Amino acid sequence: MKLILLGAPGAGKGTVAKMLTAVDGSVQISTGDILRGEVQAGSDLGRQAEEFMNRGDLVPDSLIMGIMEKRLQQPDCANGFLLDGFPRTIPQAEALKELLNKLNIKLDMVVNIDVPREVLLDRLTTRRTCTNSDCQAIYNVKSMPPKKEGVCDKCGSPIVQRDDETVEAITHRLETYNDKTAPLVGFYEKEGQLQTITGTSSDAVVNAIKSELGM
Ligand code: ADP
Repeated sequence: MKLILLGAPGAGKGTVAKMLTAVDGSVQISTGDILRGEVQAGSDLGRQAEEFMNRGDLVPDSLIMGIMEKRLQQPDCANGFLLDGFPRTIPQAEALKELLNKLNIKLDMVVNIDVPREVLLDRLTTRRTCTNSDCQAIYNVKSMPPKKEGVCDKCGSPIVQRDDETVEAITHRLETYNDKTAPLVGFYEKEGQLQTITGTSSDAVVNAIKSELGM
């Protein structure tokens, strides 16, 4: 499947994407995971992105498009991909449309995961993320704690609260979402590609996507 997952921070895009990769071997492409990997590696790209990320601001479109242009041409994308956290702005959506045309790739649909704001805030402040950049598993201290406190079940690395998960940065990320990313809902509606799924359970969202795709 070739999907874009839209939704506010905390809507469950990453969790849904990870569940969908198990369905048909499509790969999850998370620009947030790629950027955090670059920051940890101390690369040029990471250094350029870090300040924006810690403040809860978006990284400039040009950096993101450079990442995505390379990523979408890697062979593992041929079987399908789930775009998680990209596109995040109208210019990114327009650039993606051009890129997909150039690469001759057709999307199946754009899924808008719609979750109430109170749920988003609660999830983001209780979320914990694995520090291993190759894993980045997601936990929640309330609803999905790891078996051993502070340690990733999958790889044994420490799990932490992300630097951009302070109440201040979260509030700013939600504002940025409303200003810059929410307009993509209208953009993809016009393109005739949008499906909105309202729901707070990731299982229900995954089932709704599978049924839309006839799987
Ligand atoms: P979440 O969806 O939980 O907010 P992500 O892991 O997707 O978090 O992104 C974390 C940060 O990485 C964002 O706040 C932003 O600074 C940066 N980022 C990720 N994807 C993009 C993108 N497509 N465009 C601009 N910045 C991005």
